[in-house]
Amino acid sequence: MTTALSSHTTEEVRALLVPPGSALLHELSHGLGGPYHVLFPERFDANAAAFRQAFAEAGVEGRVYYAKKANKAATFVERAAVAGLGVDVASHGELREALAAGVRGRDLVVTGPAKDDQLLRVAVLQGALVAVDALDELDRLITLAAELGRTAQVLLRRLPPGQPHSRFGLDDGELETALHRCRTEHVEMAGFSFHLSGYDIRERADLAAESVRLCTHARTLGLRADRVSAGGGFAVDYVDAESWNRFHESTRPEHFHAHKAFSGYYPYHSPVAGADALRTLLATTPAGEDLSLAELVRAAGVTLLVEPGRALLDQAGCTVFRVQGAKERDGYDILTVDGSSLSLSEQWFDSEFLPDPVLVPCERPDLADAGPYPACVGAATCLESDMLTWRKIRFPVRPAAGDLLVYLNTAGYQMDSNESPFHELPLPPKVVIEGPSSASGSARPRWRLDRHP
Ligand SMILES: *Cc1c(COP(=O)(O)O)cnc(C)c1O
Repeated sequence: MTTALSSHTTEEVRALLVPPGSALLHELSHGLGGPYHVLFPERFDANAAAFRQAFAEAGVEGRVYYAKKANKAATFVERAAVAGLGVDVASHGELREALAAGVRGRDLVVTGPAKDDQLLRVAVLQGALVAVDALDELDRLITLAAELGRTAQVLLRRLPPGQPHSRFGLDDGELETALHRCRTEHVEMAGFSFHLSGYDIRERADLAAESVRLCTHARTLGLRADRVSAGGGFAVDYVDAESWNRFHESTRPEHFHAHKAFSGYYPYHSPVAGADALRTLLATTPAGEDLSLAELVRAAGVTLLVEPGRALLDQAGCTVFRVQGAKERDGYDILTVDGSSLSLSEQWFDSEFLPDPVLVPCERPDLADAGPYPACVGAATCLESDMLTWRKIRFPVRPAAGDLLVYLNTAGYQMDSNESPFHELPLPPKVVIEGPSSASGSARPRWRLDRHP
């Protein structure tokens, strides 16, 4: 049987998973009539504060930009606006949402490849930083800025030398050309940016240090170049080391429904994650240097920008499905829940969101029987491939119709990246929980919908 992969969780979530708190989850499932997401915006605030604290401890001028693509909820950008965080947007829609939430134009960085003219125009008018991805994009940006009689704030995005097949960024030759084209009155060349896939801290430190050196070079050309964005990719730690190692050692094809095999998984355990990853990055001595990245950045008078998405959403949400039915097959159960795998987005990467969902049973007489009961989790659709969990999870009691299945820590990318009203199933609403308010005089958390349709 497969090993347990219990998700790290928080006090406010644990309180919802057992009586009497679980009554609220059942009530919401009934009231909303389908799956839903629960958001904990106070966790977002705490994660952002931890990132800022890491900059402060290292004595580094730093700025945190929340990468909006990690979750579509309004509440997180609203929190970002109030906290004075920057926001990383990659489309006109994301930019509109951020501005409407109160984020100021100069606190935005616009990333993404080949941004269209409308997006570039609004970015210039708002004084947002634009991470330029290609030479033709830079030319369009300069033309637009000149037409508007404004100055574009430009970061030049680097193609990471260690990821030469990336479709993003400018290579060394293009960078040099771009630097010369930035010597016009309609551009303020703010510095350089990069975004690496994967979670390697040393690779980030090396590239950040190279970018600091590039700033020095750019200044010799008369450019401002006082910012480096190290992008996102701060890991999230979902499960402990021991169960993660045990999972890798013991996993067999028969632990999955239909012997399903995946080519790889997100690293669900990370010994250094979130703001600690930033702390480690700042303390790392990059290749060919004698000083730490923090010291290099400080000595060069550079402001270091980071664009975390997933890490700011750590523990900031979970996703609740209701079991619609269960049937036995070859010694395990196939559960069907009231939603689709599109509301858990790992299938985009031909993979599976591995942390065990937690069963929150409804009140019924047969709860005392001894498990474990292995079960996989399918969607309420007619597609063989639409499974939320192919792995046969070991449940302590036998899941039955009416029980809830809660996927923990889903706010970062697992919530709504791929949601679709397939089969005319409505999109799961988002419920914001903001802690027991002393004003309400009760210990029960208060909830509201993230946005009204
Ligand atoms: C996706 C993305 C991010 C955020 O990445 P995380 O892994 O969620 O931290 C930041 N910057 C850019 C340019 C991105 O594309």
